[in-house]
Amino acid sequence: MLLIKNGTVIDPSHSLEKKRDLLIRDGRVEALDESIAAEGAETLDATDLIVAPGFIDLHVHLREPGFEYKETIASGARAAVAGGFTSVCCMPNTKPVNDNSSVTSFIIEQGRAAELANVFPIGAITQGSKGEHLAEIGEMKSAGVVAISDDGRPVPDSGIMRRAMEYSRDFDLVVVDHCEDCCGAAGWAMHEGEYSALMGLNGLPGAAEDMHVARDITLAELTGARVHIAHISTARSVDMVRQAKQKGLAVTCEVTPHHFTLTDRAVYESCFDTNFKMAPPLRSQSDLEAIIEGLRDGTIDAIATDHAPHHANEKMLEFDCAPNGIIGLETALSLTLDRLTSRGVISLSRMVELLSTNPSRIFKLNRGTLKVGAAADVTIFDPNREIKVNASKFQSRSRNTPFDGWELKGAPAATIVGGRVVWREDK
Ligand SMILES: [Zn+2]
Ligand SMILES: [Zn+2]
Repeated sequence: MLLIKNGTVIDPSHSLEKKRDLLIRDGRVEALDESIAAEGAETLDATDLIVAPGFIDLHVHLREPGFEYKETIASGARAAVAGGFTSVCCMPNTKPVNDNSSVTSFIIEQGRAAELANVFPIGAITQGSKGEHLAEIGEMKSAGVVAISDDGRPVPDSGIMRRAMEYSRDFDLVVVDHCEDCCGAAGWAMHEGEYSALMGLNGLPGAAEDMHVARDITLAELTGARVHIAHISTARSVDMVRQAKQKGLAVTCEVTPHHFTLTDRAVYESCFDTNFKMAPPLRSQSDLEAIIEGLRDGTIDAIATDHAPHHANEKMLEFDCAPNGIIGLETALSLTLDRLTSRGVISLSRMVELLSTNPSRIFKLNRGTLKVGAAADVTIFDPNREIKVNASKFQSRSRNTPFDGWELKGAPAATIVGGRVVWREDK
């Protein structure tokens, strides 16, 4: 038994924002009340802290199997709980690609063996994520995938995407869409705009994302499938999702902390630091402002990290040759608190919705709530604690973050998965 005392519970799943004690027994929420006494229970004092349903990251790359030198399922799960995440959903671009039930089962077993965060695999849309032939979607669903995606690459053929959506609808899976039209932009290194011109780098225009989002919203309407736009990054794409929602289509989207914090100007100011290189690239100031508006008005459903570990040697290449991606699990919560709630952009309750309630609903994970009887996944955080990001202390195997040394207000305090305290802040 675990008793969390004196915290402020914020749980949008039943519009709760009050001081409450929370009692956990056998991995489930046993009671949630003004004052609970439970003899023999381990007690965790949450005075001045926020207690929320466990945070769920819909978009991470854990690199195992195949790239264990970047990250393993265990090291990624350790980074997750140290960042306040109780569940992570991992993309299939491993080696081999998770396009069949044996890879899916392997990931689930490794996740269980780590005994940290819940690890939910996402299956590939096409075999090898090559965009040619559909993967074994039904078999993967039976083995436990929670969504399908060819993340890292778009699905270029509209006919294949249409069929994937029809299957996904029949198997009740959401299609997670990496939107990047290949409009003459092979070899791009950053967002196409004034800074790419100044730096002499090949740019990827926002239109490359917009064309794909337009196509796949159209296909969502045609097929009735549920489509989730990964890492949305442009003003026009946010607007298209807003309109799709107004039409009643089952279209959702996520944004990364780096896309609501940084713009292409940061690439310029970094002097070719490859920790500012990712897909989609950091966009313009007006794109960032549209993302902030989407976070405010409910168009954006979730905050997801796109945690993408790379070895230091790989990132040490010239800017245009370095691989895309940055890690995010151990900075996401502090960035969200510092950039969004502390500055009054969104409320703490809306933040919990973006990190827990909505992610659970979109992937149908049956979590994201602290109602009595729910799985006891809990994130406890301190919105006021001031921290300095120190990448050398990260639990992740990789260090590729643009936020090293940043001073931020707000940090995780404790992470509880299935009723077990799996991480606590060092005091
Ligand atoms: Zn992607
Ligand atoms: Zn990704």
